Amino acid sequence: MKEVYTLADLRDWRTATADCDPPLRLAVIGDPVAHSASPQMHNAALAALGIPARYTRLHIKPDELTEALALLHKAGFIGINCTIPHKPAVLDAVDEADENARRAGGVNTVVVGKNGKLHGFSTDGPGFSRAVQESFGIGLKHLRVLVLGAGGGAGRAIAMQCAAEQCPALTLLNRSLDKLEPLLDDIAKVCPFDRISSGDLSDLFLKIGLANSDLVVNCTALGMKPGDKSPAPARHIEARHLLYDTIYVGHRTPLLAAGDTAGARGANGLSMLLHQGALSFKIWFQREPDIEVMRAAPLSRFDSTAK
Ligand code: NAP
Repeated sequence: MKEVYTLADLRDWRTATADCDPPLRLAVIGDPVAHSASPQMHNAALAALGIPARYTRLHIKPDELTEALALLHKAGFIGINCTIPHKPAVLDAVDEADENARRAGGVNTVVVGKNGKLHGFSTDGPGFSRAVQESFGIGLKHLRVLVLGAGGGAGRAIAMQCAAEQCPALTLLNRSLDKLEPLLDDIAKVCPFDRISSGDLSDLFLKIGLANSDLVVNCTALGMKPGDKSPAPARHIEARHLLYDTIYVGHRTPLLAAGDTAGARGANGLSMLLHQGALSFKIWFQREPDIEVMRAAPLSRFDSTAK
């Protein structure tokens, strides 16, 4: 069994995966995708429930997406997860999409119907909501939230979830202001406009945003690479802040390190990965996976606990 499969494999899936027992019937598709921790998590849940299927990675480039989606039914897929950069394109490609996917502007979970029709869902926002509750013991509806990087895919899904849960105040910041405009229009449809503020990632907006927030969420890519700076400077972080970094790399991210300096509690994105994955699993099988089995999968070498 390979760690990563490609479109060439998908074209003759039964031959490419002839050595796989149970058969590979679920995958995460992305470009890149080799880093994804989803297979460990889902394979542990599948094995625990005795479901005769396995989950793998498919490296699909943007210009290969249409063909790849069309091949899933013939290859015997139950469903897929989508990651960077495919979520918005899959929303356009599926036969129908749920409300969370339409709000998030992207699909992270696809069910391949018996007739080959594709049904799209997004579990990113609901998964984030569960992760916050689990990490800090408080729900979004009680928290004033600051989203850093709200113009990206994860930022949009999280901002829409906060608005849908009617959090008391929502501040949306993004490096490129123009990317916030479509989100602000959509968010106003589910949340009273007087609860929303927006701006860029300049020091002034960060200072005001942090002063008026309880929960700070990093949805920027800052922290993925060694040497990245914190998306919010330590001097504006207070001990009362709750910091959630959607990044789940194996080190304390720059935002969480800045929070440590200020004495603030923080958690990384592993719990969001876990809960969005558990919600995808439930969509595919109409059964709750064992979340502790998923958490104990090899990805638990990352430390997700709130500190
Ligand atoms: P995306 O759509 O490409 O968005 C990237 C975001 O990062 C944009 O807001 C972008 O701002 C910002 N950004 C990139 N480089 C920056 C820099 N140098 N300074 C300031 N802002 C910068 O990506 P995505 O899918 O939303 O992913 C964003 C993060 O969320 C990633 O770190 C990913 O690991 C994490 N994530 C985690 C989970 C989970 O389950 N834990 C799920 C999804 C995503 P501009 O608009 O100005 O370019």
